[in-house]
Amino acid sequence: MSDRRSFLKYMIGGASTPGAPTFTRDYYTELGIKPFINAIGPYSSLGGEEMWPEVIEAMDYAVQNKADMEELHDAVGKRIAELVGCEYACVTAGAASAITLAVAGSMSGLDPDIIHTLPHPPAGTKNEVILQASHQYLYDRALRVPGAKLVFVDSEEDLRAAIGSKTAMMFYVRKMTGQISLERWIELAKEYDIPTLCDAATTVPPIKYLLDTLKLGFDLCCFSGGKGLRGPYSAGLLLGRKDLIDAAKANGSPNHRAVGRSMKVAPEEYLGMMVAVETALKHDETADMALYERLTNYIATEINTLEGVTAEVRVADIQGMEPYVNVEWDQNIYKISKDDAKLALRNGDPCIELRAMFLSFGELHITAHMLKPDEEKIVARRMIEVLQDSKTGAMQ
Ligand SMILES: *Cc1c(COP(=O)(O)O)cnc(C)c1O
Repeated sequence: MSDRRSFLKYMIGGASTPGAPTFTRDYYTELGIKPFINAIGPYSSLGGEEMWPEVIEAMDYAVQNKADMEELHDAVGKRIAELVGCEYACVTAGAASAITLAVAGSMSGLDPDIIHTLPHPPAGTKNEVILQASHQYLYDRALRVPGAKLVFVDSEEDLRAAIGSKTAMMFYVRKMTGQISLERWIELAKEYDIPTLCDAATTVPPIKYLLDTLKLGFDLCCFSGGKGLRGPYSAGLLLGRKDLIDAAKANGSPNHRAVGRSMKVAPEEYLGMMVAVETALKHDETADMALYERLTNYIATEINTLEGVTAEVRVADIQGMEPYVNVEWDQNIYKISKDDAKLALRNGDPCIELRAMFLSFGELHITAHMLKPDEEKIVARRMIEVLQDSKTGAMQ
């Protein structure tokens, strides 16, 4: 599977990509970078999702045709807003950057004295972001970048006590829970006239969740561009109220004296993100889901032929609700731990990445989302080999 042709399929975004370019160089081989089969999913650390071919075409167009950046960004923002049904939109350097710019904007408005001094604005500047303690998460540094202070609350009583003249924003992470429900969070923010931002970075697919989240009543919502939307890896979206997005943009590139100047977005990413939204909205997600079901069923059926092994197809209740295969085995027969099985598959030939330990809570999961044609057969075969070899103590 590490032959040159199959390796190049990785590079061009799928074997069936229409009009895919042929490459004159095999860069990864030149660099000694090992190809791998992705049975784990579109993880950022493994390069994320594949862009839609339509996105690559739009990016090529923008590379070859220059435009005024503000004009382009505004036009793209209006088009995206029209497509998804919100007031306005801007393209950011990922969802984390959307959070930073949105918080910066909620602190500064359009006041240049604040914009030019973040993260150390003049005394009296609104600089507090309130969130539920249960919503403290991996990305909360993005809230602090513009100089905001995080204020954690548990109950509605805490929240009412925390709101004051320094409150810049009330932040909520979609799919996380707490004592205060999503609906109540929005209601209370409206009562005090405080802008709300919802991090919904990973809720797509299905694209319907993006549209649904926008209807909940948050002032702003942010999404990753390079995850389920299949846009440019380093892009993201900030969607919602125009006045707040104007303020967020004032804190970003191409403005020089802005805290977000270091989060530059390329013209090809503006256009690529727009086309990613267009394409995602037209795409038949049920066909994808049927494919993932077929592939996971195949893998589970193959692995189940081993005595003392149970491979079960499950549907995740988070992350796009895609099916995955959970593999368990009798450790008296197969003398290998899940962690070691993961390592054996990673170090084998071909290298296969799957989910064990982190994010699967000690279970071993195989996903079909990123598999190329026929890779399901290799994954099933290698999983069987690793288990069988463990009986005799053979390496891998
Ligand atoms: C991935 C993720 C982010 C960061 O998104 P980027 O587009 O990589 O910046 C933020 N919040 C959540 C919940 C995420 O899953």
